[in-house]
Amino acid sequence: MIASVNNLPKPDARAKSHFDAIVIGAGFGGLYMLHKLRNEMGLNVCAFDRAKDVGGTWYWNRYPGALSDSESMVYRFSFDKDLLNDFKWSTRYLMQPQVLEYLQHVADRFDLRRSIAFETGIAAAHFDEARALWLVTTDEGEQFTAQHLVAAVGPLAATNIPDIKGLDTFEGETFHTSKWPEKVELVGKRVGVVGTGSTGIQLITAIAGEVKHLTVFQRTPQYSVPVGNGPVSEKYLSDIHSDWDGLWRSVRGSAFAMGFAESVIPAMSVTEHEREAIFEKAWEFGGGFRYAFGTFADILIDPEANHAAASFIRRKIAEIVKDPETARILTPTDYYVKRPLCDSGYFEVFNRDDVSLVDVKANPIAEITPHGVVLSDGTVHKLDVLVFATGFDAVDGNFKKIDMRGKGGLSLSDHWNKGAASYLGIATAGFPNMYMIAGPLMPFSNFPPLLEIQVELIADLIEHIRQSGADSIEATQAAEDEWVKTCGDIASQMLLTKADSWIFGANIPGKPKRVLFYVAGVANFLAVVKEMKANDFAGFGLGYAAATATAEVDA
Ligand code: FAD
Ligand code: NAP
Repeated sequence: MIASVNNLPKPDARAKSHFDAIVIGAGFGGLYMLHKLRNEMGLNVCAFDRAKDVGGTWYWNRYPGALSDSESMVYRFSFDKDLLNDFKWSTRYLMQPQVLEYLQHVADRFDLRRSIAFETGIAAAHFDEARALWLVTTDEGEQFTAQHLVAAVGPLAATNIPDIKGLDTFEGETFHTSKWPEKVELVGKRVGVVGTGSTGIQLITAIAGEVKHLTVFQRTPQYSVPVGNGPVSEKYLSDIHSDWDGLWRSVRGSAFAMGFAESVIPAMSVTEHEREAIFEKAWEFGGGFRYAFGTFADILIDPEANHAAASFIRRKIAEIVKDPETARILTPTDYYVKRPLCDSGYFEVFNRDDVSLVDVKANPIAEITPHGVVLSDGTVHKLDVLVFATGFDAVDGNFKKIDMRGKGGLSLSDHWNKGAASYLGIATAGFPNMYMIAGPLMPFSNFPPLLEIQVELIADLIEHIRQSGADSIEATQAAEDEWVKTCGDIASQMLLTKADSWIFGANIPGKPKRVLFYVAGVANFLAVVKEMKANDFAGFGLGYAAATATAEVDA
């Protein structure tokens, strides 16, 4: 039985209880999926988001200093020439308000909001095998059905707050960076920040000097290079605008889709002097991905190359940070293999008198009290505000938060109990017609081009079902197992495994440790997809179970 919607006034989005497709999430991925399915394929679609508006990552992450470190020219959609030409930008990188404004513009331009139910979370999605339909339930208990379910729930959106004794006793204000309220007053306050990943270093750099005193609780030091943000020239912009096709061709022909030429030179093939000059040039120009992948081809592969890139940054830290003990604590000693970071003067911040660095690996946080943080040796840091920049249960976190059940009532969490799995990052065995955007084992790259590739692939799968006269499509278990193995094999040939991070799920206690990405790059991924399609969608199986099901629903 199809439950009816309640008596609330109904925007277009929830005017029906059955849809051809339901999309969960209205970030980059969900917005393009909605446009593709509704505006281009003519399907009847409803999207849901817990947020009050579109934007996803850029709706939620409003912390001071939040910036995209993919360059402005490629941190956008490529699918529409007019969209590319009519949304102007003037700096090499976009701050959070600018990305949010861009996504709002996308929603307006393609009239997407009328098909999105905001402030509506999806709690459950169960597959009805007899009718080949997804029964989707909101947090409030409303129910909807759809033939296709697209989960665009965000790769970096399931907030991770560490379980620290006494956290709920703190009498000051507590925030996680990814749930940052619109107005937060930090001026004149003693602020503590836990976490020094991409988020932490942006926040710390932005608020140092603004707050009364800043205490940084650092567990693992980070390699970071300058971001190099600033205004771009008219000539730079007109060159990009005159050859969008060339840019996107090069993006899709590269590994990381960042819009610059990745190096093909091994680091040890040049002299030490030349190597230093190349690193120095990259440091001056700015950009984490440019430093890691625009300088030499083998920084993630050859330990010597990695050592050279890492040592260069270590020497820079020693030059920048005046106090030798502070510099020691800030200097990483492990491999340079986490997601590349860049900053707007992070290490310089620690030369300020109103900033303290606390090494919580040497002296862990013991507990949080009403007035601040107490370390294991008894040191007390009194705080008015405590910020967690502690990252995410990345990639599979938000998928598992939904009570998702596929064939035979199999729950997604049970299916993934040994580690998140997929075929091509978009489908998982046992869950017909459920498509993931930014699902586990997607290519590791700049996201917008990748999300476009995934949306287009999902559209192809849906078209394939329609043309075959089938009513469902599903990744086979064999294809999924093979893809998991392929991704694991590729990662194990690189130095990536030398450091624990969210890329392997290692930041979440108890989470199975497995690479969460296909790290062979976008161009290779596209070649795999091309072959899969040429082989009649190899690895996917069609289902014909439910020819008469939709007669019951009120489409
Ligand atoms: P999101 O933008 O995360 O959107 C997911 C949406 O799904 C959210 O709005 C959420 O509310 C909604 N949702 C989730 N679960 C449910 C549910 N059960 N019910 C209803 N709604 C739900 N990537 C880059 O490539 N380059 C960058 O420079 C970069 N910078 C980043 C900076 C920050 C601070 C962060 C956190 C991430 C950054 N990323 C960057 C990664 C970024 O997440 C992606 O680039 C991209 O925005 C992801 O888009 P998405 O649509 O897949 O997911
Ligand atoms: P993150 O990289 O996972 O960093 C989390 C930080 O919190 C780490 O320093 C971690 O220390 C620390 N931490 C976690 N638990 C802790 C605990 N119990 N005690 C002390 N410290 C703890 O998360 P993130 O910084 O939010 O970034 C996640 C990803 O989002 C990035 O890699 C990037 O892809 C994206 N992002 C991008 C940008 C950008 O520049 N465009 C900005 C923000 C985010 P350990 O290292 O010791 O675990």
